[in-house]
Amino acid sequence: MINYDWIIVGAGITGTSLSYELAKKGLNVLLIEENPTFENATRYSYGGLAYWSGSTPLTRQLCEDGKQRHQILSEELEADTEFREVDLVLTVSPEQNPEKIAENYARFITPPRLLTPEDACQIEPLLNPNGIAAAFTVRHGHISPEKTNFAYLDAFKRLGGTLEIAKVTEFVKQENRITGVKTKNDTYLAENTVICAGGLSRSLLASAGISIRLHFTHTEVLETPPVEINLRTVVMSAGMERFQLEADAAKPEFERLWDEPGHEFVPLIIDGSAVQFLNNKMRIGQPSRVLSDPNAKINPAESEAQIRNAIGKILPPLQDLPAHWYHCLVAFTADSLPLVGAIPGLTGIHIFSGFSNPLVFVPPLAQRYANHLTEQPDELIEQLSPLRSTL
Ligand SMILES: Cc1cc2nc3c(=O)[nH]c(=O)nc-3n(C[C@H](O)[C@H](O)[C@H](O)COP(=O)(O)OP(=O)(O)OC[C@H]3O[C@@H](n4cnc5c(N)ncnc54)[C@H](O)[C@@H]3O)c2cc1C
Repeated sequence: MINYDWIIVGAGITGTSLSYELAKKGLNVLLIEENPTFENATRYSYGGLAYWSGSTPLTRQLCEDGKQRHQILSEELEADTEFREVDLVLTVSPEQNPEKIAENYARFITPPRLLTPEDACQIEPLLNPNGIAAAFTVRHGHISPEKTNFAYLDAFKRLGGTLEIAKVTEFVKQENRITGVKTKNDTYLAENTVICAGGLSRSLLASAGISIRLHFTHTEVLETPPVEINLRTVVMSAGMERFQLEADAAKPEFERLWDEPGHEFVPLIIDGSAVQFLNNKMRIGQPSRVLSDPNAKINPAESEAQIRNAIGKILPPLQDLPAHWYHCLVAFTADSLPLVGAIPGLTGIHIFSGFSNPLVFVPPLAQRYANHLTEQPDELIEQLSPLRSTL
């Protein structure tokens, strides 16, 4: 049996980028993914790079590093990630106060600029000026998330990395050390295992009796076929309701309940939002629900109607576009920073998950984390340890 240096569980952007960076160090890496068609949060993502949104020394540094890394990623991975810059338009609903939102934005490296509805329509002609009180705009990075994911995966395989399609069902444990993982048909051994299973990381670890402060939302999106309508910008809600939803759902009093099915900690939010990719497909969304059961059933017809209703108020030409409904889980943490590091109380097992600004932060952090694990300790990585006091 091969004894790998590292096993990585999950081939979304966190797993593929970390596998690539570890393989680049000359290590023998096995990446295990349960879904043969890679239907995950990365696949359904909008691909936005909010590198304007760093608000602390740590997140500003990561935004700067992320911007630089994305600029050279296509060349390094030898595949086009479709990196570009676009205008982001953040819409303010009639019930919201633009001045309050502007105060909140003042902490960002590049605060989005306030626009009247008419000015917003100059930037995004598909907007309904009567559906918004105002808008904000800022330059936003953009990639194809699935092309970036496959670029990492292919580069990893070219470096000699191994991909297995199977579900990790349990861990191999010797006293306090995790020495590998089991799937239905096989056992794989490694010096170290990293959990990059996105919204399923919590339940996978819980099945082995490991509890960790990592949570997830159920997120839904409509994806159109290539369409002739041209959406010039990325459109999202200015209120950043998702961050409030995550903070409310991660309150300490709910922690124990997260491991029981059947709880909905806070009401659903719907961020009327849309993006168009270079292949002319659009993704339109986006409801976020906090249901403790990762396998909770969502009613697709009801969800689709809610998404169409929300987008119809802001971008009316998109409301009736033909589209397919998708659902996935998105991981988050209580303090909006990712969990990167060794899982406390055990050896041989680590976590790299829970990113709130993932597509900007993951590439530089995967690189830094691989250096931290193999060369020298990195103070920035240590600030993201699961043992940090802000969790
Ligand atoms: C609609 C939508 C829009 C978004 N827009 C943006 C955006 O504009 N900008 C941004 O930065 N972020 C955005 N995000 C968030 C971002 O895309 C995700 O947080 C990120 O891609 C998650 O990557 P991940 O690797 O953590 O998880 P995932 O991509 O979900 O990958 C986890 C993988 O682990 C696998 N797995 C789980 N359990 C097991 C197991 N037991 N065995 C084997 N494999 C397992 C799963 O099958 C999955 O493939 C968006 C997300 C959605 C859904």
